[in-house]
Amino acid sequence: MLVMKFGGTSVADRPAVERLVSIVRAARQAAIQPESADWRGPVVVVSALGGVTDRLLGVAAEAGAGDVEGARENINALEARHLDVAGIVTDDGERRRLEELIRAEFDELERVVGALGVLREVTPRWLDAIAATGEILSSRMVTAALASHGLPCAWVDARRVMVTTADHTSAAPLEAETTAALTATVDPLLASRKIPVIGGFVGATKSGVTTTLGRGGSDYSASIVGACLSAEEIQIWTDVDGMLTADPRVVRDVRVVPHLSFAEASELAYFGAKVLHPATIQPAVGRNIPVRILNARRPEDPVGTLITRDRPPSDEPFTAIASKTGVTVVDITSTRMLMAHGFLRRIFEVFEQHRISVDVVTTSEVSVSVTIDDARRVPEALDTLRGVADVTREDGMAILCAVGEGLQNDPTLVTELLSATGGVPIRMVSQAAARRNITLVLRAEDLNATLGRIHDKFFGVR
Ligand code: ADP
Ligand code: ASP
Ligand code: MG
Repeated sequence: MLVMKFGGTSVADRPAVERLVSIVRAARQAAIQPESADWRGPVVVVSALGGVTDRLLGVAAEAGAGDVEGARENINALEARHLDVAGIVTDDGERRRLEELIRAEFDELERVVGALGVLREVTPRWLDAIAATGEILSSRMVTAALASHGLPCAWVDARRVMVTTADHTSAAPLEAETTAALTATVDPLLASRKIPVIGGFVGATKSGVTTTLGRGGSDYSASIVGACLSAEEIQIWTDVDGMLTADPRVVRDVRVVPHLSFAEASELAYFGAKVLHPATIQPAVGRNIPVRILNARRPEDPVGTLITRDRPPSDEPFTAIASKTGVTVVDITSTRMLMAHGFLRRIFEVFEQHRISVDVVTTSEVSVSVTIDDARRVPEALDTLRGVADVTREDGMAILCAVGEGLQNDPTLVTELLSATGGVPIRMVSQAAARRNITLVLRAEDLNATLGRIHDKFFGVR
């Protein structure tokens, strides 16, 4: 069985949904093998229409600030956009039913926003309930679109099959419960040769409270669904040709990477390659399920990147470079205590206590430097740390991470990489024992030029 995930741009408007329908139709035709009992599905997982989650979170922020009028305007605009895309459903009855669903969902949202506007407080639990509207509606719409184009399918409510912890806005799927719920719901649909359509990003706790898996989480939903149902392949359909050698919004002459190992893909996703949510690969690794990234805008020649446990050897020193901005560096210095027994443990306990995840770590004799992605809880953590050391923070930093299995065989690459930076100030350098990446921390304002130079050196036309 095949899992096909379509991202926000792949369901953004009517032409995108039309392309989705033909991609799914082609997959289904390939799946129909009357002589074989094997049914490749597919199971379809969809994101909210492009930009909708941002706008829903904007609505929540307006409600929290008491600006109910502003929130209402945005809700109306969202409703109009969904109703417009619903026009793709050709069958009159089906379309009217869909339009009713869309109106009911936004009416409910308006009621919620009215109440939250009075309270002037939006808890993470309400944030999830509001954000989930995007995927709940997009999955409804895609189901109706597939059905009206003659493809037998069925809507699956993600809140009934993706069972998660109660960590609102970044809930973690519970494997055993999700597997049980998915098999109970999806297997009978597949057995009757229907295409199950599930909203990504969304889940619910065991007691049925709506949660979300965190921004970009539909990729993760797809791989969880794939792993729990033992899919033979997980396809991530998006708006680029695959994993590219660098972020195409920053570097011009990027190329598609045809084949990646699970480990390389995980590192790239973790350090900023937005095309994959950082957690996507992990469920696939457990079951050894190939993941493929494909371009939904070019279904006739989707090129693509195949991600498997191992990949064929290549001559390239690096496979790709990931990057991200919005990084905070925290320096913790103690002339007395640093190498004292238990000091590092104490520092990391503080981060754990404040639920802060640390990405890059470097140490010297008197200091430890760490990078943090999400600086929201940093002030409280720093207050605690100040009890044991001198602490400074620097915002506006960036991470550049060059990834490649080739690093294991060529220890000189660190020098080559550093010499390609062109002399910009480098704040931290790290190469882990697995020798699959070299990570540099630098000022965000230096990132684009540095990434361009490094990309040119290692991936430029030679
Ligand atoms: P979707 O809505 O399909 O989930 P995303 O916007 O989340 O799509 O991810 C796709 C985007 O990721 C691309 O349009 C591209 O701008 C960005 N991106 C950043 N780094 C990379 C990379 N190394 N390879 C491919 N895309 C990347
Ligand atoms: N719609 C969600 C987001 O924008 C999830 C996703 O697109 O993967 O974060
Ligand atoms: Mg995405």
